[in-house]
Amino acid sequence: METLDRDTAKKLFEHYRRQRDGIRNKPEMASICLICGSIHIIPKDGNEHKLVCRDCGFAFFRYACPACGKTVDGRDPKNPGCRECGLRVCTCGACGCAAG
Ligand SMILES: [Zn+2]
Ligand SMILES: [Zn+2]
Ligand SMILES: [Zn+2]
Repeated sequence: METLDRDTAKKLFEHYRRQRDGIRNKPEMASICLICGSIHIIPKDGNEHKLVCRDCGFAFFRYACPACGKTVDGRDPKNPGCRECGLRVCTCGACGCAAG
């Protein structure tokens, strides 16, 4: 994962706080916390589908769709939660229900 410089991170943070659609398509958003703006994002222990902010503790879904490989991000309105499996629904329509 590339390290973001602060200016870029700040701009992305401000943009996507207002406009959440598109977060899933922005690779840099994997390393920006949308709550506090931190770029200290690490994989969440024991959860391969989530990342967590080291500074504020906010955890969010971000993983590759098992069906099509596109990025799914729980902060993106186009990736709503699935009540059945608890994962997020990809823009291709797949979630955890179909996998396996
Ligand atoms: Zn944070
Ligand atoms: Zn998909
Ligand atoms: Zn599901």
